[in-house]
Amino acid sequence: MKDEMKNPGSPKKVIAIIGAGPAGMFVYKKLVDAGAVQYSVHIYEAGNSYGAGMPYSTEGAGAEHVTNISGNELPRLPMGVTAWIKQLPPAIPVSFGIDPQNFSGYKVVPRLLFGQYLQEQFTRLLEEGYATGIDTHLHTACRVTDIEDMPAKSKVKVITDNQQERVFDSVIICTGHHWPVTFEGKTPGFYDSPYPPRKIQQRFNHPIAIKGSSLTAIDAIRTLARQHGRFTTASGGGGVVYVPDPSAGAFSIVMYSLKGLLPGIRFHLDDPRLTHTPLLSEEAIRQHMQENNGFLSLDFIFEKDFKQLLKQKDPDYYNQIKDMSLEAFTQAIMSRREKMDPFLLFKKEYQEARDSIREKMPVHWKELLASLSFAMNYPAKHFSAEDMLRLTKTLMPLISIVIAFVPQSSCEELMALHQAGRLQLVAVDEDSGIEVDKKGNKTYHYKDENGHTHQQQYQTFIDCTGQPRLWIQDFPFASMKKQNTVIQAQLKFLDEEKARRLQQEGNTDIIFRKDNTAWLNVPGIAINDAFRAVGKEQAANPRVYLMSVPFIGGYNPDYSGLDFCDEAASRVVADLLAQLSTA
Ligand SMILES: Cc1cc2nc3c(=O)[nH]c(=O)nc-3n(C[C@H](O)[C@H](O)[C@H](O)COP(=O)(O)OP(=O)(O)OC[C@H]3O[C@@H](n4cnc5c(N)ncnc54)[C@H](O)[C@@H]3O)c2cc1C
Repeated sequence: MKDEMKNPGSPKKVIAIIGAGPAGMFVYKKLVDAGAVQYSVHIYEAGNSYGAGMPYSTEGAGAEHVTNISGNELPRLPMGVTAWIKQLPPAIPVSFGIDPQNFSGYKVVPRLLFGQYLQEQFTRLLEEGYATGIDTHLHTACRVTDIEDMPAKSKVKVITDNQQERVFDSVIICTGHHWPVTFEGKTPGFYDSPYPPRKIQQRFNHPIAIKGSSLTAIDAIRTLARQHGRFTTASGGGGVVYVPDPSAGAFSIVMYSLKGLLPGIRFHLDDPRLTHTPLLSEEAIRQHMQENNGFLSLDFIFEKDFKQLLKQKDPDYYNQIKDMSLEAFTQAIMSRREKMDPFLLFKKEYQEARDSIREKMPVHWKELLASLSFAMNYPAKHFSAEDMLRLTKTLMPLISIVIAFVPQSSCEELMALHQAGRLQLVAVDEDSGIEVDKKGNKTYHYKDENGHTHQQQYQTFIDCTGQPRLWIQDFPFASMKKQNTVIQAQLKFLDEEKARRLQQEGNTDIIFRKDNTAWLNVPGIAINDAFRAVGKEQAANPRVYLMSVPFIGGYNPDYSGLDFCDEAASRVVADLLAQLSTA
């Protein structure tokens, strides 16, 4: 393969990777793996370092934050994280609270240490790239400010903040996380996200309102708790306890969460990389779509990529749910959760997850839900609008709760804070939220489960709902929007009458095209299966690839983890190489 691709006679194709976080690193890795010497690669990174990206650098983590996946769940890199930790001078892991001798691939890692690991892996890949003959140029502290497609010349221009312009054959946009600002910076005490954590590393000493209760909320809680006290282990094996500082008497956290739910906890995974499970092949999906008017059916993928796999792994559980529709299954799980006190359920699930890890016993239905979410992500752009509406209403909320994979140490801290009376959870309705008046007062409004209205004013509010799925308006590269190199992602309705009814009921995301077909606007930008940007006339652009998760959320509704970076990078590089062989 490598030799076939070596073609010293023809000039090198010049490509740009925009953003050197994990996604950019995996794209480069795939080029190195393929021995793609026909490319000259320019990597642009706005920050001073490369590899760590936002979550694993000080932009997204403090010393108190941990990954939500363990070493053995990571996609392959030049060196495994366990081996890497064991060969470090012991003082480094010890400074992060890790005993290198006791560290194993089943453990999660402090995010800042993990960022160092990623940077070192990227360095090794760069060395491999140079050694292989891939002409590579890394531009750090260099922000790309605009990207302009030049279809007539089959080139793309990249403009950087040092006013340099360079022309490429292809660009792969890996700019990652993006947090829009609403009131932060204008209204004291209002935070649009808890990132970077240094902004909330301060003593508040009053009740703090947090919107959301999942991983982002847990990040904020871990930071805030340490500013107002400390965690310690109770004598006699009594678990983790929270000891507030005597001067932090008024500190507390109120989490506002839809239906009062807490996220699911990490358990033992039978297949840590979620790759062994025989999911539907691309060919099977293609064939099904041909027989289904070009659409992928949500019921079909739920049946094949969840129920049928469950039948093999856990026949008893399968028998309980085999006749349930997607809606009935979701409802059954959710109502079981909603009925229990969230902290009691959290404690129960913590104990179950601890046993699952200790005995290496997987929880098949939860693991298969994670596989389903991974499998569904790529072909989701072929759902009908009706199925996408069902997915976002039913399965996505369930998936986001069940497979949040909260690490054990975070559970212990949340339970200790709750026990100490410093953390409470309030169940709210979908229309709840924070309101900021002209004077900057911040009031949380919500209805409880009995429909009673409540409102509470706060000095400090932190939006912890996590990375929002963004719309095309927020996309940072103006020329691409102006020239329609990128366009709004849309899904077609099967039933135009239904679309019209939904529109009449107030759904403003539905549009009718000139040919009278009905479409649903979904967040972000249109891409094809190879992550090429789809522009005007619905044409997939061979020069522009888009892997930035916040901007493809409509077509890739779920997965944003490192396994996504790895898989998406494989698809992008396979497509690039296929272009070479047909050129
Ligand atoms: C707080 C948090 C914790 C997470 N924890 C986990 C976890 O434990 N496990 C997991 O699997 N996933 C986790 N994720 C999911 C996460 O999305 C991925 O793991 C990963 O960070 C995505 O990588 P990325 O390169 O797409 O984005 P990012 O990490 O955001 O990296 C993008 C890079 O592009 C650079 N950049 C941006 N704009 C420009 C520009 N215009 N010009 C040049 N450079 C630019 C940025 O500086 C950055 O280095 C977490 C996400 C968040 C938000």
